[in-house]
Amino acid sequence: MDNKVENVIIIGSGPAGLTAAIYAARANLTPMMIEGYEAGGQLMTTTDVENYPGFAEGIMGPDLMMVTRKQAERFGTRFVTKNVTKVDFSQRPFKIWVDQDLYQAKTVIISTGASAKYLGLENEKRLLGRGVSACATCDGAFFRNQEVCVVGGGDTAMEEANFLTRFASKVHLIHRRSEFRASKIMVERVLKNPKVSVIYNSELADVLGDKGVTGIKVRNLESGEVSEMKMDGVFIAIGHKPNTDLFKDIIDTNEVGYILTKGKSTYTSIPGVFAAGDVQDPIYRQAISAAGTGCMAAIDAERWLESQEEH
Ligand code: NAP
Repeated sequence: MDNKVENVIIIGSGPAGLTAAIYAARANLTPMMIEGYEAGGQLMTTTDVENYPGFAEGIMGPDLMMVTRKQAERFGTRFVTKNVTKVDFSQRPFKIWVDQDLYQAKTVIISTGASAKYLGLENEKRLLGRGVSACATCDGAFFRNQEVCVVGGGDTAMEEANFLTRFASKVHLIHRRSEFRASKIMVERVLKNPKVSVIYNSELADVLGDKGVTGIKVRNLESGEVSEMKMDGVFIAIGHKPNTDLFKDIIDTNEVGYILTKGKSTYTSIPGVFAAGDVQDPIYRQAISAAGTGCMAAIDAERWLESQEEH
């Protein structure tokens, strides 16, 4: 590794990171993106994206990320397809390690996104990828004419339950309360779907099966009663966790780990480090809002660099 100091290093390659790369590249900052082994972010595990402006007929999530990456590359973004392992933002230039390799940058844009949360059951972990999943769009097709359950009561759970009825013979929606957090229209769609049955006031107590899922245990939270059900697949849809472990105790976050940004900007608690996309957004979490903040982060970084050079 030489001692080159990059103008901007972008960590993470979902809609936020790639949009930041397009803007930074077009501002002649020749950005470097450390895109991670699982490049592309959450849209890589999505099928149809119908609400991203510009695609009247919709577009597949991975296709959207592929064309956006090409667009970033076309203007000179360089990609490192590895994971960042350590950072040191205590002084400038900022230091970023990918295993033994050290990269240095005048500014950093963090766009590491968020990941699905799990319940924390031992068998849930053991059977992950063997009938347990957090992504119906990725794994739903494996459950043609089979029985599956979805855990959660938010929009994601509704979306997953509905989607799974395309394949599954029956979808059991397990929710810990009697009311849903999800938006009314999504709930209505699920309740109207004859293939979905809702199990209210209940939690998934265990996942059963040796090499693959064969059943579940459900605990009724009012009576405490635990019942067993035959089941082929288990989809966990209980929300997401921001990917900020790398920046723990380095950068200011809220109580659940989302990076705090200042006012209507992408400035973080460290001057010269900016955050964009789901990693700093517990509210909107849309591809288009992530892309919007990616654009903001590139502009913030460019102006911040300019202001540093003036002094
Ligand atoms: P969410 O809104 O935070 O909902 C999480 C759900 O999981 C809640 O119903 C919660 O129950 C339940 N839950 C959390 N921890 C649990 C646990 N340990 N055991 C059992 N249940 C648990 O998350 P989300 O559904 O992923 O949605 C996140 C954001 O994305 C929301 O703003 C949502 O509107 C948005 N979104 C939008 C769309 C769309 O518009 N197409 C699609 C997906 C997501 P409680 O309700 O009891 O807390």
